[in-house]
Amino acid sequence: MRWSKDSRTKVIPLAILTMVATLALFAAPQEKHLSVYSTAANYPLPIVQRRGHDYVGLLELLEPLGAVSAKSDGKRWRLHYNNILGEFSEGQSHARIQGHDADLIGKFVLENGRGLVPVAGLDSLLPRFLGGPANLHQDSYRLFIGSVATHFTASVSPQDPSRLLFQFTAPVNPTVATEHGKVRMIFTHEPVIAPASPTLTFESKTIPEATYSEGNGAAEIIVNTTIPLIASFSADGKTITLSPPKQAEPTANVTPGAPPQRASPPATSATNSPPAARRIFAVVDASHGGDDHGEALSATLAEKDVNVAFARHLRQELEIRGIATIVLRDSDANISLDDRAAFTNNARAAIYIAVHAASSGHGVRLYTAMLPYGGEEDKGPFRSWPTAQQGSIVMSQEAAASVAGELKKQQVAVRMLTAPLRPLNNVEIAAIAVEIAPSDTDVSQLASQDYQQQISSAVAAGIANIRAQLVAAQ
Ligand SMILES: [Zn+2]
Repeated sequence: MRWSKDSRTKVIPLAILTMVATLALFAAPQEKHLSVYSTAANYPLPIVQRRGHDYVGLLELLEPLGAVSAKSDGKRWRLHYNNILGEFSEGQSHARIQGHDADLIGKFVLENGRGLVPVAGLDSLLPRFLGGPANLHQDSYRLFIGSVATHFTASVSPQDPSRLLFQFTAPVNPTVATEHGKVRMIFTHEPVIAPASPTLTFESKTIPEATYSEGNGAAEIIVNTTIPLIASFSADGKTITLSPPKQAEPTANVTPGAPPQRASPPATSATNSPPAARRIFAVVDASHGGDDHGEALSATLAEKDVNVAFARHLRQELEIRGIATIVLRDSDANISLDDRAAFTNNARAAIYIAVHAASSGHGVRLYTAMLPYGGEEDKGPFRSWPTAQQGSIVMSQEAAASVAGELKKQQVAVRMLTAPLRPLNNVEIAAIAVEIAPSDTDVSQLASQDYQQQISSAVAAGIANIRAQLVAAQ
């Protein structure tokens, strides 16, 4: 069962009638489903209640992702997914996958030959079959398989604060509803995930803020506004502009649920058309964040804070050199390593630069990934997660060498290292980590503007030197 806009549209009136009748007669709870997002397909999966918990059919879950078959024999159920064998038993909370024990976080249910597993255990069970991560948002019934997260940024237009621009890392097509004082965008089919902070505030009198939330298998962005706004999509489907109706281009207007339309030919005035989605070239990742403080550099200095400050300097230095850059963690948020890599892989950037700080050593250490020996075969719908970096490792080493050269020109002590430093190995594009340490023994130097400036300027110059190679490798 895959999402298809046409069939859903036709089904709605009947579904509403059925639901009203059902609610009136039996007060039955609304049917729940799990939204599954993967590179192979996005699809909804019905959730059933057994033993007081949420369950899904495992065969139905794996079916869109690969070759799957199952057989039951008494209380035993055997499932083959590609070349992987899973053995389950009715009433048992453990299964065997390829002969290894797996905790299901609840008891397996076998019903008429159909194997049901608890939703709560999916993020630990699925990687055993798929060979890559599965990230479950249990409260909102959303399951992310592999590198699929769609991230977004929102900003008001500097020229016109009554226009709000959303940029997504992949095309989106939400349902848009406007009501008094609010524009509501609901993303059911897209793996849109939360920004660093769920509340976004803007320097605009008419559009003060937007909030992100998720639930019932969907993500929702609500924009608060004091004026009527309509949504228009840019040609690539990655940009949504909310603007007052009189200023919108008629050809780009979109009714709720309609597919994104192609933009009209070049507008007479360039400032009237929404800016094209900016192609991100560099992703700068301020490592750690939130409750992960990183190293306690001193009694008052946490690594996570130094990293954000340094990342912002680095973005500025890269942008000065014409390199479009996004800071992956631009606030005090805790983002998982998997999400950081997934964001980068989806952003179609050319280079990923993780930033760390350390109190020990001198100058800068530059890391490239140390890949697991022998690697792993690609399994299921996506590239092997632990060795995603394989195809770009040479480019990563060239980037590190170029950055090292520029740091040496600035008399900064520099060492080049390979390390099993996540998420470098999960990133598909050129990826380096830059760890800054004091030039001498004074740790407070790490927080100094001058020092951050000096190092970020050299790092940016090193990246700019090999821009052509990075573009060619993209
Ligand atoms: Zn660190």
